[in-house]
Amino acid sequence: MEKLFITKENLKVLIASLKKDCAEFIAPRYEHLDDIVLGDTKADGRELLNYEGNSVISPRAFLLPQTEELFEIKSAKNSEFIAVEDKKKRIFYGVRPCDIKALKLMEEFFIGGEFEDKPYKEKFRNSVFITLSCIKKCSPESFCFEMGSGPFAKEGFDLQLTPLNRGFLVEIGSKKGSQVIRKHKKLFSKAKPEDEKEVRTLSLNFTKGKKRINYKRLARIMRENKVQESIWDDIGQRCVVCSGCVTLCPTCSCFSIQDRLSGAQGSRFRYCDGCVYAGFTRMAGGSTPFPEHKDHIRRFFEHKLNIDTQRYGVSSCVGCGRCIQTCPGNISIRKFIEQAVDGS
Ligand code: SF4
Ligand code: SF4
Repeated sequence: MEKLFITKENLKVLIASLKKDCAEFIAPRYEHLDDIVLGDTKADGRELLNYEGNSVISPRAFLLPQTEELFEIKSAKNSEFIAVEDKKKRIFYGVRPCDIKALKLMEEFFIGGEFEDKPYKEKFRNSVFITLSCIKKCSPESFCFEMGSGPFAKEGFDLQLTPLNRGFLVEIGSKKGSQVIRKHKKLFSKAKPEDEKEVRTLSLNFTKGKKRINYKRLARIMRENKVQESIWDDIGQRCVVCSGCVTLCPTCSCFSIQDRLSGAQGSRFRYCDGCVYAGFTRMAGGSTPFPEHKDHIRRFFEHKLNIDTQRYGVSSCVGCGRCIQTCPGNISIRKFIEQAVDGS
């Protein structure tokens, strides 16, 4: 695929045009204490041309919101339902490569299987994803390269921008991306060999001294139950079930359903659930197959590092580091991986 180039000035023009071309332009912006918030933004902040770090929440929060009305129940008795549709065009700008890989996994889960999740599909298919690749590590906790999701996205993006000294290298990843380029072709030029050379240097600097994690081996270690029980005991003692990890993780897909009725009318909602809650697998009658506290965080790690690796061939931990940053119990999935591999 031919690589293109855009200057900083032209990127500002492109962003202004894209904002007019969508219902929501979702981009990172600095807020209090320099936290990076992802949200609909009409502002022309400094962060649009580049920002350091990653947003606290990921695009998942827009495609699988915490609470979402699925359909209106006009008459429960006569089975009259009206689906709630969301056909808004959203442009996600400045999405980091780890979150793009997370979206690929979410697409696989919600759209690629036997059943299609219409509300997710509708929002996902109407969205455009513009990646800003990482020229340096976004936080001390992130390990995207080790998990094979950074510093550049390999697929799943519509356009990918890499910040260079004289502007941005542009890669097209889809038909939607090509359409954006076609509509704004005067803003782009062909990339020069020195631009691609600069990208190679950035990549070498980013990856220096880092090693990919063999997540297939890790999955095998977990499957064969070779993780020392003392590691799970320690994690279980430190988890306070705040649910920060499952709320922020870009690949958590668990949800539950609730009908709110007044008489025969009302609505069906879905809301994000979390495997770290004790009641997550509680059955009718009150018994649970996982009674111990350590089992709850264990199923979170098992899902990311073992089950999804078996299901998709890749781990669904993309190494964004959010769960580590937020955990009040100082629990680190990255440290767990090292301990599990070293102790096997
Ligand atoms: S963020 Fe830490 S303390 Fe909170 S639920 Fe997750 S593992 Fe437990
Ligand atoms: S498990 Fe933690 S590091 Fe891995 S993708 Fe989820 S939030 Fe990021």
